[in-house]
Amino acid sequence: MNLPDCLFCKIANKDIPAKVVFEDETLIAIEDINPAAPVHVLIIPKDHIVSLADIKPEDETVLGHIQVIAASLAGDLKLADQGYRLVNNCGEWGGQTVMHLHYHLLGGRHFGWPPG
Ligand code: AMP
Ligand code: ZN
Repeated sequence: MNLPDCLFCKIANKDIPAKVVFEDETLIAIEDINPAAPVHVLIIPKDHIVSLADIKPEDETVLGHIQVIAASLAGDLKLADQGYRLVNNCGEWGGQTVMHLHYHLLGGRHFGWPPG
């Protein structure tokens, strides 16, 4: 399902251009427009899911697929040896600004803990 006014639905539909890193039937991975690290890819399910707080049992397959693709992309992008971070920001306090579920694959530098 797509929402007409959703940024990531529009990107998944190719109504808005993006630098596509990977795509298959269920998800699209794009370069973040405002990268927070040398590698910053967004992994986005094509179906509109608002946030991690809205997932349903039937979303389990795509959520698992996102992790498999994240690990595969991390390998392709030469991040696996040194390590990387896969992040989901959920809701206002989690820092989510686009209300269509997505995961940030970040790499190419050392990340601190805890996050800000
Ligand atoms: P979040 O704050 O977790 O919701 O992440 C939203 C991310 O989307 C931010 O890192 C933005 O830089 C990124 N973003 C916003 N608009 C675009 C766009 N048109 N293309 C690619 N990334 C975008
Ligand atoms: Zn959407």
